[in-house]
Amino acid sequence: MDINFCTQCGKQLTYKTIGDEGEQKYCECCSKFYFDNPASCVLVAIINENNQVLLLKQNYISTKNYTLCSGYLKKGDTLEETVAREVLEETGQCVIPCEYVQSYYFAPKNLIMTGFIAYVKASEFGSSNEVDGLVWVNLDKAVTMVERENNYSGVHLDRCIDLIKKVLII
Ligand SMILES: [Zn+2]
Repeated sequence: MDINFCTQCGKQLTYKTIGDEGEQKYCECCSKFYFDNPASCVLVAIINENNQVLLLKQNYISTKNYTLCSGYLKKGDTLEETVAREVLEETGQCVIPCEYVQSYYFAPKNLIMTGFIAYVKASEFGSSNEVDGLVWVNLDKAVTMVERENNYSGVHLDRCIDLIKKVLII
């Protein structure tokens, strides 16, 4: 979210140069800098022992297509802890290991999305009110079902499948 007013005194922010960072938003009154740092979330391709990916139906994102698991970081949590928490909350699966793949910048929300693969042994689905359906899908089919409009699920899934195929030589 863009901040234009000081959260302490309410005055409109101006700009001031700071070190190597260039011009940053600044409150003259409080001598305080404001940085438009991006928020941070994880984006997770969940893969089971049969090399299927878990796709989520989330009607608030798309009523037609499927997404990958995602969620915001909470204060005090590492990226890996966020992956494990979100995967469990949204799908009921326990992450065995997870691996960093690539990060993406989502401009509309000033959001850094850190992409992971999470390996799980398929188990019973949990219930989350953010998720309207869950389905295990073979990788080749998943690429045709995933949301690609205004969303990084498709790009991240493609990238993960490339990596998995390199390891498995399938
Ligand atoms: Zn101020």
